[in-house]
Amino acid sequence: MTILVTGGAGYIGSHTVRALQQAGQPVLVLDNLVYGHRAIAEQVLQVPLLVGQLGDRPLLDALLQGDHPLLPAGPVRAVLHFAAYAYVGESVTDPARYYRNNLGDTLVLLEALHAEAQRCGRPIPLVFSSTCATYGIPAPDQIPISERCPQAPINPYGRSKWMVEQLLADFGAAYGQPSVIFRYFNAAGADPAADLGEDHDPETHLIPLVLEALAGRREAIQVFGRDYPTPDGTCIRDYIHVGDLAAAHVLGLERLLERGGQHIYNLGTGSGYSVQQVIDAARAHTGRELRVIEAPRRPGDPAELVADAAKAMAELGWKPQRSELATVLADAWGWHQRRWG
Ligand code: UDP
Repeated sequence: MTILVTGGAGYIGSHTVRALQQAGQPVLVLDNLVYGHRAIAEQVLQVPLLVGQLGDRPLLDALLQGDHPLLPAGPVRAVLHFAAYAYVGESVTDPARYYRNNLGDTLVLLEALHAEAQRCGRPIPLVFSSTCATYGIPAPDQIPISERCPQAPINPYGRSKWMVEQLLADFGAAYGQPSVIFRYFNAAGADPAADLGEDHDPETHLIPLVLEALAGRREAIQVFGRDYPTPDGTCIRDYIHVGDLAAAHVLGLERLLERGGQHIYNLGTGSGYSVQQVIDAARAHTGRELRVIEAPRRPGDPAELVADAAKAMAELGWKPQRSELATVLADAWGWHQRRWG
């Protein structure tokens, strides 16, 4: 049977598709290609790609029932749900778009999964991409952040993910919908083969922006605030290699297929690096220089976000393999150089 990957032409989705392929799982990607890349799916991953919208209920019903020519191995056995818009600033200026896509379309998916489970008598597990943005601005005594940290998202993007988490809890309680929720910290890096990587337009993330500046494709890097209560005054984040995220999805999927249930896991390394440390490590790796502009704080940025990921490690047997900062930067730079030269 087929594993349906929504958003499989995007950054984290595409790396997970490759991990599933390597684990021998037949995959179909559903992606609306608003932010995903057709060439990544079709040429690099060579995975069947269905260009469509998640909120298309008749399409979902056909896929779940095995009635679609692109399905590589019959009906859908499980869904990995990455498809979402993820620009925090845009979610503030256009919340309707975020709630429609991230929340509304996911509700359609969950209803379709429930209807199919009733029809055929077998639940269809879901692995959901959530985010540490659901924790909002955690109190300093909550760091490192465990799954028990209160959730209080501070923007529509974070709230849309948090609302889906609540839908999953309710669908689990009422209908027995099996699910794994992964709350990602800062996804970074690229496949070491350098044929998959981060390619956002516009790019807002620190590591690709620093690498673009080092490569001379960007004039400078702005540091958003140097007056935070951290050792060097810049924000601290937990950068987790996208390949380690992908590996966690394969483990989470296997667990759900074996045992069902509802599970929530943070995915991070437990170690944080400041913006300045990232810039310094990237300069050291590339041997290049870049111009730094001191900029004001970006609204809504917490001083420090570091995961306590002990639960994922203990229950899934997951262990980050490539998430040392130097390795993350080396892989991201390899992708950057191959993509843009
Ligand atoms: N950041 C920065 N300059 C940039 C982009 C990001 O100083 O051009 C900082 C940002 O304020 C945050 C950290 O880098 O403290 C990571 O930001 P990113 O957008 O990569 O991820 P986020 O933590 O917001 O999900």
